[in-house]
Amino acid sequence: MLVVMSQGCSPDCGERVISALAAAGRRAERIALADRAAVRADGPFDVALAEVVGRLPGVALVLPASRPMRHVLRREGRGATTVRLGRHTIGDGGFTIVAGPCAVEDEAGLERVARAVAEAGADVLRGGAFKPRASPYDFQGLGRPALPLLARVGAAVGLPVVTEALDAASLDEVSRHAHMVQIGARNMDNSALLKHAGRAGIPVLLKRGMAATLEDLLLAAEYVLEEGNPHVVLCERGIRTFSDHSRYTLDLGIVPVLKRVSHLPVIVDPSHASGAREVVPALARAALAAGADGVMVEVHPDPLHALSDGRQSLTPEEFRVLASDLRALEPLLARHREPVT
Ligand code: PEP
Ligand code: MN
Repeated sequence: MLVVMSQGCSPDCGERVISALAAAGRRAERIALADRAAVRADGPFDVALAEVVGRLPGVALVLPASRPMRHVLRREGRGATTVRLGRHTIGDGGFTIVAGPCAVEDEAGLERVARAVAEAGADVLRGGAFKPRASPYDFQGLGRPALPLLARVGAAVGLPVVTEALDAASLDEVSRHAHMVQIGARNMDNSALLKHAGRAGIPVLLKRGMAATLEDLLLAAEYVLEEGNPHVVLCERGIRTFSDHSRYTLDLGIVPVLKRVSHLPVIVDPSHASGAREVVPALARAALAAGADGVMVEVHPDPLHALSDGRQSLTPEEFRVLASDLRALEPLLARHREPVT
């Protein structure tokens, strides 16, 4: 259990938390987050105990994180992490827009969509080469040949490139061609791949698994950082719930919590969360308002004929409107996104 204290609360408040945990038989230790104190207690999350502790004076938040985390939590005197991709920086207080097709299908289509998103104001080009699909009979991506295409088209339109790796071999290939590797929701708890990404040193876009808790996500990032790679961006992409109106449920509530407890940048993927084009712009605007450092949106020149995820892909024109709305809203909401130091 991680008990996050309010900013500026007195040391007595922390002592009271430690005593309450000790009375419940929990060993607890004080840790310093960037802008406030916190107390970490060993043992499983206990709702009743969290309720008791949550009511003590000076307690801001009780989180179900119990395992030690050496790298991902905010630390006093250490600013927020920024992740540099070519000339673009994620997490510096600006709002990053990542856009592009679900999968690279052919060079001409990729070029069309890349030019359109670059002109509309995207910062990073996405496009899958290795696709993790639900069915082995679905389009699996072009694989290796897509990587030089992405690199060439990204350079031509002046955007850095992010693309997914599914295993260590594809991660090595991606490292040679892209600015950032994506570890997808289905691989978030693949510790071998996380360690490999940590050793490779390439910036990592780590997507939250569809059934991953906040602690699961932070511990996955911890694997990469523990190997010496601090360049990690977290991505909320929707989780499984009982909701039946949408592909997944976008958990925007995790954004301000992640921003408070971790120094890593956080972006949101409204495309895979909703699975529906008409819902994507509203969720993207909401992500900006929730304090995310950016969004990742799928765009396809001809969504009806896309080989994957056409139903959720914006047309270039729809993306142009969204990007312009986001850029207009950005200054209004900037103070909620400033890195906490
Ligand atoms: C993707 O971004 O291409 C993707 C497959 O996303 P996720 O891992 O979130 O399903
Ligand atoms: Mn997709």
